[in-house]
Amino acid sequence: MQVNFKSLVVWLILNKQADRAIKLLAEKYKVKTPHLKVGLPKGHRTKTLGCYLTKNSTITLYNRELLSNPYVILHEFYHHLRTNIEKRHKGTEKNANKFALDFIRQYNKTHYKYTKILLENPEENRKQK
Ligand SMILES: [Zn+2]
Repeated sequence: MQVNFKSLVVWLILNKQADRAIKLLAEKYKVKTPHLKVGLPKGHRTKTLGCYLTKNSTITLYNRELLSNPYVILHEFYHHLRTNIEKRHKGTEKNANKFALDFIRQYNKTHYKYTKILLENPEENRKQK
């Protein structure tokens, strides 16, 4: 089964492989791979889930659980992407959300399709066991 790039990225993050997902994203968009760190910088608002630091190209997350949150990781990756393309500007929050949602929508579509195939072909499903 051919795997869609966006679905794969989301799947990797959900399966605790955010490092691999970020590397794939960086390759795809031809930018340097950002660093990924748990722990927001000092003095940051506690309500923030993630933050992208331009000066050291680092995505920081509020806690370890967020390493498997595709929405937060993809949102912050968008800031990395914009920063690398435009040098100064991180892009808007709205576009960062859009970018993340697009990946998640694709994942949901693929997931739905795959589930449907399995449900419609129970024999195929059994063969794989
Ligand atoms: Zn943001």
